Amino acid sequence: MQLWCTENQTETLGLTARVKETLFAGKSEFQDVAVVDSYQFGRMLVLDGVFQTSIFEEYVYHEMIAHVPLYIHPNPKKVLVIGGGDGGTVREVVRHDTVEKVEMVEIDGMVVDVCKKYLPEISSALNEPNPKLDLKIGDGIQHMADATNEYDVIIVDCSDPIGPGEGLFTPEFYRNVYKALKEDGLFVQQTESPFYHRELIKRIQKDVKAIFPITDLYLAHIPIYPGGCHCFTLGSKKYGPKDADTSRQTMEMRYHNAEVQQGCFALPNFVRELMK
Ligand code: SAM
Repeated sequence: MQLWCTENQTETLGLTARVKETLFAGKSEFQDVAVVDSYQFGRMLVLDGVFQTSIFEEYVYHEMIAHVPLYIHPNPKKVLVIGGGDGGTVREVVRHDTVEKVEMVEIDGMVVDVCKKYLPEISSALNEPNPKLDLKIGDGIQHMADATNEYDVIIVDCSDPIGPGEGLFTPEFYRNVYKALKEDGLFVQQTESPFYHRELIKRIQKDVKAIFPITDLYLAHIPIYPGGCHCFTLGSKKYGPKDADTSRQTMEMRYHNAEVQQGCFALPNFVRELMK
């Protein structure tokens, strides 16, 4: 018997992976949580039927959501990650020498536990004690409402804008992110596919532009996400993409490098259109 796992990426399109084995399937207070071992992508985290990350290509997303903002800020010391329950983003953030403290606020403890067990390559920073890291199980929306002038960089590593992630895509949330950042702080958020989520991206650009003096968008190639092309929104109080300084980069990376740091902001015309 052959097992297949499909993510319905739009109402008329699916991405299907042949599965060797279902390693975990459960239901948390917030969502369906599964880990499957697939032939193409290896072990893969699936939340509410949506592919989140896989051993095969996770480095693209995690390097790009972490390193791009951290190199734009000249001296990121205190960083907040909202969501990111698989641990891949904090794994990359703690590698930066300038970073002294990383807080991670993930709403679903089951995601963290399951990733620690089945995806240890991704969750490695959560598996070993790390003096830089402070993991809280809680709602990132509430955490933002409570924080003022605390962080140099905020990374919103959230799931899609449905369910517990919905409130992470609102003007109120972006106003609270602005409030929670220091006077020269900046944030990034994963903001879906420029092919399939145009209205969402336009709305986010409009909302973030109304609050942050510098707003931009960058791209990365992510095979498990809709369209294989994913975008990230940047909102910043002071520093923009051109301020990035990768001269302090000594770490080995699989996707990110000095050219990618600048080049990811070079946008095709149909993507530029979304920013107008
Ligand atoms: N790379 C992924 C993607 O774009 O599909 C996102 C990965 S990460 C697993 C997303 C996490 O955000 C999930 O574990 C989910 O539980 C968490 N999340 C959703 N809403 C949240 C909220 N309001 N506060 C904190 N975490 C939240």
